[in-house]
Order: sequence, then C-alpha cells, then structure tokens
Amino acid sequence: MPVRADYAADPAKSRGRRFPATRSATRSEFQRDRDRIVHCTAFRRLEYKTQVFVNHEGDLFRTRLTHSIEVAQIARSAARCLRLDEDLVEAIALAHDLGHTPFGHAGQDELDACMKPWGGFEHNLQSLRVVDELEQRYAGHDGLNLCFETREGILKHCSPANARTLGELGERFLLRRQPSLEAQVANLADEIAYNNHDIDDGLRSGLLQLDAMIGVRLFGRHCAAARNAHPQVSGRRLVHETIRRMIDELVTDLIGETQRCIDAAGVHSIDAVRAAPALVRFSDCIRADSVELKRFLHANLYEHERVLAVMKRARAIVCELFHRYRGDPALLPDEHRQRVDAIGERAIADYIAGMTDRFAVREHLRLTGGDPDRLRAVDVLGAASDALP
Ligand code: MG
Repeated sequence: MPVRADYAADPAKSRGRRFPATRSATRSEFQRDRDRIVHCTAFRRLEYKTQVFVNHEGDLFRTRLTHSIEVAQIARSAARCLRLDEDLVEAIALAHDLGHTPFGHAGQDELDACMKPWGGFEHNLQSLRVVDELEQRYAGHDGLNLCFETREGILKHCSPANARTLGELGERFLLRRQPSLEAQVANLADEIAYNNHDIDDGLRSGLLQLDAMIGVRLFGRHCAAARNAHPQVSGRRLVHETIRRMIDELVTDLIGETQRCIDAAGVHSIDAVRAAPALVRFSDCIRADSVELKRFLHANLYEHERVLAVMKRARAIVCELFHRYRGDPALLPDEHRQRVDAIGERAIADYIAGMTDRFAVREHLRLTGGDPDRLRAVDVLGAASDALP
C-alpha cells in the first residue's frame, strides 16, 4: 500500500460527521462511507436509470450504475498513483450520481423546470440530499451520516443561492475555493468515463459511425495505433482496442499533469489544496482533444434526433407526473403524501427523482389510464422506451 501523501485527505483527521459516531476497529472513516453508499437503496436504483440510452433500449448499454463503477475504477487508478486516499475517491465516485432523476439529463431538466417556483432542481444537490436526508437506515437520524470530505466531493456544483443554505459545505462555492484532490480526481474521472463509454455505446447503437469518429483527433490517433498493432482487427474489437488506448492516454496524462501541478503549487495539506487553484487537470493538448471529442458527442450523439425524440417523451412523463401529484397528493404513497404536507413541492421532486426509468413509465401509465398491455410490457420486459407515450 503506497504511503498517503501529505496533500491527501486523511480519514483520521476528517472534519467529521453530522452526528457523532463511534469509530470502527477495522475500517477507516472513508472506507465506512464507501460501504454505506454501496449498501444504500439509491445506489441499487442506479441500475435502472438512464445514462444516455433509456434503460432497456438494450442490455449492453451503460446505466448510471455501470457508469458509476467505471468512474470509481478510473478515479482509484489515478488516486493510487498520486498517493491520494483511494477509499475517499471511490466513495465520491460511487455516490456522485445518486441524485440523478430517471431519463438522464432530460429528466433533470424537466424536474428543474417544474420546480422553478420552489428553488429548482439540481442533481448534484440532490445527490447530497440523498446521502444527508433521504436514505432511512439509521435509528437515530436520517441519511447516511457521511464524513464532511465525502459530502464535499459529492457536491460538485452548486448555485450561490443554494450554497448559502448549506453552511460550511456551501462556503467554497461562495469563496471560490477547491475541494480535496480526491474530489477533483473523481470529477475528471467522471469525464473520462462518460466520454469513452458514450463512444462505445454510440457506436454499438449505430447512432455514431466509425468513419466519422476517426475524424476526431483523440479517437483517430488511437484507432490508427490499434490498426497498426493489429492490422487484421476490425469491428467491435477495433473499437475496444481504440477506447482502451484512449482511456490509458487520458488517465496517464491526468496523473502526470496533476503531479506536476501539485509539486509546482507546493501544497502539503488538504487545506492548502482547498486554497490553491484546481490542481487536478489534463495537459493543454489533451484538454483541447477532450473538448473536441465532447463537442463531437454533443452534436452527433446527445443531440441525435433519435436520442432527442426519446428524451422529449421522457420529459413529458416527468412533467405530467409532477403536475398530477401536485394536483392530487393522494396519488402519492402515504409516506410521500405526508412529506408533501410537511415540506411541499420538494417532496414531490424527491419522489420523482428517486424513480427508476421503468418505475416512472409504469407510474405514468397508471395515472393516465394507460393500456394494460403496455403496462405489462414494462413489468415483464422492463421495456421502458417502448412504453413511452
Ligand atoms: Mg457521472
């Protein structure tokens, strides 16, 4: 086990939990946080939530769960080389998308629009709500009672208005300070993971074409390298050989550039890290390549008419669910109806955000008197996209 660097987060010196807890004899504080996240209900729901493709458009596409596991793998590899706390980085990576709504960004955007009069909806803030308030696993308190450092890492973005309500956790957004290096690594590991797996899923779906991808610098040069090394290889194997090389270059560049930045900044404590500019970064050349790739994916995959058509229908579901529950809270399960009495519309947003894709489709069909055959299709096949209105 590599020695933890002085600039890393130290579980023995955590800023602590919201509620006092005895320490474990066998696990560090950050290990315990990782374990609490893996065992929570919201984590299991990630299996049935959209990353880009609606869950069950195909069994091989990424879901939020497999995405989160890939982020954790990349983040841990980088953390180990940089001598950061691997457990903290893993905890943040596994929890970073817990607040995501069904149907990916379309669901989040629609819920944000519905909630505009009541403070809007931000999925990062919702991830924090899940671990701070919505999970119900402890006798003495709501939430998972995670360490400050884990919560700091989960809250990647936050509007100034919301930051003001979050006490010491919100301070950094107002003071423009950074989180731990572990949080910064998890953030860029997220970007590496989705850029690469979205290429893989995009090609698999037929929405992206290999010939067009070759025009993107990062993909093009690694595809050429893969063909050079294996002239006979084609199809899926060529795609995988290319993506493996891309991930390796991105992670290697991230580690090298970050170590250089850490050394140049001369930071020797987590507080010095928080006061310094962002230190986890790609080299300028790789950053430019990554931006080019992102633009390509936006134009050719995320904005593809077939993806947009599914997302438009998904938004309609979220919108209708919100307004039906708001019009008649008796449509909600008892526990959630009581929360509406206590905290108003936010309780409806919490309920919808927690839904899996197929649960949202089934619930929409139930409330709108949907065709029983389509309802059965959702139950039996989990065929969410087929049953969208
Ligand atoms: Mg993510």
